[in-house]
Amino acid sequence: MTLRLGLPPRGRAFLFIHVVTAAGLLWAQPTLPALAWAAVQYFVCMFGVTAGLHRYFAHRSFKTSRAFQLVLAILGQLSAQRSVIWWAGHHRHHHRYSDRPEDVHSPIQRGIFYAHMGWLLTDAAEVDRHNVSDLERIPELRFLHRWRLLPATILGVTSWLLLDWSGLFWGFFLALVATWHATFTINSLAHVFGTQRFDTGDTSRNNLWLALLTLGEGWHNNHHRYMRSVRQGFAPWEIDISYGILRVLAWLGLVWELREPPTEVMELARRG
Ligand SMILES: [Zn+2]
Ligand SMILES: [Zn+2]
Repeated sequence: MTLRLGLPPRGRAFLFIHVVTAAGLLWAQPTLPALAWAAVQYFVCMFGVTAGLHRYFAHRSFKTSRAFQLVLAILGQLSAQRSVIWWAGHHRHHHRYSDRPEDVHSPIQRGIFYAHMGWLLTDAAEVDRHNVSDLERIPELRFLHRWRLLPATILGVTSWLLLDWSGLFWGFFLALVATWHATFTINSLAHVFGTQRFDTGDTSRNNLWLALLTLGEGWHNNHHRYMRSVRQGFAPWEIDISYGILRVLAWLGLVWELREPPTEVMELARRG
């Protein structure tokens, strides 16, 4: 008898990774080095998602060299969120149709679970290529799109070689799944819980807890107002770790032309 889940193959693979991770965590021993590895991987991968996939590739909010662009692409794909091209395509679509029927992960259109991960189990998650021609012109991004799981696979094998099965499950897979769900909270919870500074015509919210979890992405209402801004925390107390790291990288000369929001908006944010 054939088990029919009614899901596209990538949707099934996504659920299967959750099952493998849960089984591995029950079977393998948690060790301190493996948990430290998970923490470092989570931080690095989340930076790859926020600074790389989101702020650089989807929104072009700063500039860099071709070599460091490749570093950002590899960091972005370490967490196996398909490819730079896939990620940027869907994200640009989200900003264009935010919370309207065309938005594939709007919690007000189809509910929080669907916005969080349900859409990834459907054909709605196939590649949206019509708005990423700037990225498809870059051969190394096309290569990474074709071999989309290569960076994450190398990271997984390295975790296993260095720290055995504990490193694979309590390090790599734990951090991988945590990075996924932290990223997804911005599509789901950051459009439901929090405050709205700007009337953006959608349900985007600013949320400190989500900002801490995702290195700064929780200031999502700010972001929907000025999506090309490199910073998402506008007020001094709006902690934005990815922006802080990008400022250090700018000081080192690795990135430049960081786009800031207009001065009057920063002033408005500072006043509360
Ligand atoms: Zn949004
Ligand atoms: Zn965005």
